[in-house]
Amino acid sequence: MADLVVAGAGMAGLAAAARARELRASVVVYEKGDRAGGSMLLSSGFIWRHRDFEDFREECPDGDPELQRLVHERLDSALAWLEELGAPVLERETGNPLTSGWKFQTQGLADALVARAGDIRLREPLRSLPGDGTPVVLATGGFQCDRELLREHVTPEADHVLIRSNPWSAGDGLRLGVAAGAALTGGMGEFYGRNMPAPPAEIAPEDYVPLAQLYARHARVENARGETFETRTWSEIDTVQWTARQPGARARYVVQDSALGEHVRERTVGDMIEAAERAGAPVERRDGTTTVQVAAAVTTTLGGLRIDPSGRVAEGVFAAGADAGGISTGGYSSGLAAALVFGRIAAESALA
Ligand SMILES: Cc1cc2nc3c(=O)[nH]c(=O)nc-3n(C[C@H](O)[C@H](O)[C@H](O)COP(=O)(O)OP(=O)(O)OC[C@H]3O[C@@H](n4cnc5c(N)ncnc54)[C@H](O)[C@@H]3O)c2cc1C
Repeated sequence: MADLVVAGAGMAGLAAAARARELRASVVVYEKGDRAGGSMLLSSGFIWRHRDFEDFREECPDGDPELQRLVHERLDSALAWLEELGAPVLERETGNPLTSGWKFQTQGLADALVARAGDIRLREPLRSLPGDGTPVVLATGGFQCDRELLREHVTPEADHVLIRSNPWSAGDGLRLGVAAGAALTGGMGEFYGRNMPAPPAEIAPEDYVPLAQLYARHARVENARGETFETRTWSEIDTVQWTARQPGARARYVVQDSALGEHVRERTVGDMIEAAERAGAPVERRDGTTTVQVAAAVTTTLGGLRIDPSGRVAEGVFAAGADAGGISTGGYSSGLAAALVFGRIAAESALA
């Protein structure tokens, strides 16, 4: 019998398992998918925090300040821990003056954590909580892959939303936590994602980052009825959440030719549009404007189980990563950072 059961071998679950084994506990990690790494493996690998805690509060005003404070204060030592485990650091800057963090090579990061996590049982989802009182960490990555939960909490257009994550995160942790008596956080309708080239574009997981259409700030954003939306956030999370609730979970980005050379990080608007066109999205060029059809894609849900500062959701049950809500609520902060910090905290608390 193990000292700790972990559900999910993504960022949060692997961090929990590796930390638990460092504390000399025996751990079994159940993983629903056919590989470890979860959405972390598909990500850009930037694990970051706001430089100033006040900026974090301002950007995610509806999150729990105590949980946010823990992410803010513990991230730097957690990043150093990952490097000590052998995770390859590609960059030690985010390129955004308001944030600090490191970029990891994601396969190497997953490999380093897997090597420390011990017994990982692939293709074995956790279906019920251990009946023998063994503590459990729920780290199943949110509920974006379950259309019914998306419809209930996020949008009536759930059937049309694209999924931009691992294909296995379907609310299993949420259901197990609620059955054990956990409460839900606010912001159950919020998610992190990107607008992506609309069908018939084909988007493979390795294209989730390069095909993101991240130039709403340089476009007129409108729905099929011609109603417009003005982007207010640098992450454009407000735009993708709005798009998800429009007919067909679609929007049009109308871009003036004069904006095609504008840069968003290292790419130009024109580059992103060309990538969408190559993928097969409807793109129309006429009278000095380019119109691109985009569809809302969900990367992770942001609402979830209500954790306390020890990561606990109910007696003997802990949650971390996207299964735990209340951190990015009202905006967006690094999902990898919260998963890393609370994966470690959940393991420490579960074994205390
Ligand atoms: C394209 C892309 C780019 C991203 N870029 C960034 C970035 O640069 N920075 C950042 O901070 N975040 C980024 N993210 C988000 C980040 O990847 C997630 O926030 C993070 O991976 C969440 O960690 P997690 O452990 O909660 O979930 P995951 O890493 O997704 O792991 C969850 C795991 O649980 C498994 N699972 C599901 N159900 C069960 C079950 N019943 N039993 C057992 N296992 C189960 C799943 O198969 C999966 O392996 C990105 C995501 C994507 C997809």
